[in-house]
Amino acid sequence: AMKRVRSVASRILLSYAVVLVLFGSASAWSVWTFRTAVREAELLRSGYLPLALSVRELVANQDTWNTQLNHVTTAGNPSDIRVWFETALAIGRPKKLAEVRSALARVFADEPNAPARREIMAELERVTHLGAEDQTTVSQLFDALARDDGARALLLRDELVRRGLRVQRGFFHLEQRITAYVDGIVDAARVRERTAQGLLVSFGLSTLLIGLLMALYSRRVVAPVALVTQRARAVASGDLRPGEVISSRDELGELSATFESMVQAIGEARERLLAAERLAAIGKMAAHVTHEVRNPLSSMALNLDLLGDELAPSQTEALTLLRAIGREVQRLSALSDQYLSMAGRKAPEFEACDVGELVRGSVEFMRREVERTGVGLSLELEPGLPWLEVDPNQLRQALFNLLRNAREALSDGGRVVVKVTRRDDTVSIEVEDDGPGVPESVIERLFDPFFTTKEHGTGLGLGLSREIVVAHGGALEYRPRPGGGSSFLLHLPVPSALGRSGLESES
Ligand code: ADP
Repeated sequence: AMKRVRSVASRILLSYAVVLVLFGSASAWSVWTFRTAVREAELLRSGYLPLALSVRELVANQDTWNTQLNHVTTAGNPSDIRVWFETALAIGRPKKLAEVRSALARVFADEPNAPARREIMAELERVTHLGAEDQTTVSQLFDALARDDGARALLLRDELVRRGLRVQRGFFHLEQRITAYVDGIVDAARVRERTAQGLLVSFGLSTLLIGLLMALYSRRVVAPVALVTQRARAVASGDLRPGEVISSRDELGELSATFESMVQAIGEARERLLAAERLAAIGKMAAHVTHEVRNPLSSMALNLDLLGDELAPSQTEALTLLRAIGREVQRLSALSDQYLSMAGRKAPEFEACDVGELVRGSVEFMRREVERTGVGLSLELEPGLPWLEVDPNQLRQALFNLLRNAREALSDGGRVVVKVTRRDDTVSIEVEDDGPGVPESVIERLFDPFFTTKEHGTGLGLGLSREIVVAHGGALEYRPRPGGGSSFLLHLPVPSALGRSGLESES
């Protein structure tokens, strides 16, 4: 009946899962940022720094080259200087350029096609290309010096100086570009580090906060357990007053509701038990009183008869009074008989009986009493009715009650029909009359003890009859007769051993 609810266990589990996931992702993220920082530091050490240094050296070397060129025409021993220049061109500059290239390759190892790399490479190639002619010009210069061709040497030197200055500007430009690039990277790293720090701190704080909230939430979820326990303890010590149901929509709410309905059921059962005990005591007392009253009643009836004999027939008034007393005494003794048979009814003593014959006997016994009031009485027996295990005396008593009720309902005359039929495993005895029937509003209470609509009725007949039939494993029911009047149906079970075949062989 309840909507499916999230259980206490799964709610607590869920809250811890949330905390764990948050904590895990915070940790994973911090590990990742740390690794990134380490990789960047590594790159700075093995990539950017050597790159910056080697470009710096390129600039410095070109500076020296230019200074040396200024003195080349005035040097005392040109062949010595020629060696320096040629070494610088053949080994010094290419080596530095190679260093710059390999440093660049390391820096851009992860992204060889980065635009920054391509720009720097292009610039490097341009400057390298600028200095490509130097080798020839230097040879021509020293040749001119060897020939003592001063004018041509000056010309060639100036050409070299001009070109050297351009190359130096190129390298300087390259250096600036690389420095700017490295600065940019360092700045970005710093910004990233600061962001990471901030995020980590807020991540940690929020994880802590959520953990705290989840702990409080779990506490609130299981809090009702204490209330239920408290209620259980109170009930155990005898407090059966209704308690409040905990309104949470989980097992605890369900537990509480079940517990309260259990407490209510226990309370009701206890009240019913007390009432039953009281009733039983009253019943016992009443049976006792009835028993005490019955004996004097019969002697009173006897004495009334004797008194009647003593009176002269002329004393009509006294005789009328006597007869009235007699009727009341008779009614009282009938009531006490019926009451006692109800209160002190013994368990039925079963014996095999021909049900058809039993019904016939009862009807014949009642015939005089019924027909005397001008009521017709007929019997219809289906042939081949089985023998049944019944208590003949009790069953007869039930039938008498039904017949007597029918006769009493037909105070203005009428007809009573008794039918006995068999359907499969049931023998039904039907007592029918065409009297006024039972009003709709009364049907429900018909079998209640002490329910009667008659002035001198006891209200015990139908109740007692039903008890007898039920003790036989059968049922007694009322049905309005289709053409008006009442019909009481008394059903008796046929044991399965007496099936149809048994009946047929008998008939
Ligand atoms: P009592 O006969 O003493 O009243 P019963 O238990 O036998 O007690 O019957 C209860 C009531 O059922 C009767 O008072 C009467 O109103 C109703 N009743 C029983 N049998 C019939 C019947 N055949 N026709 C109409 N009413 C009936």
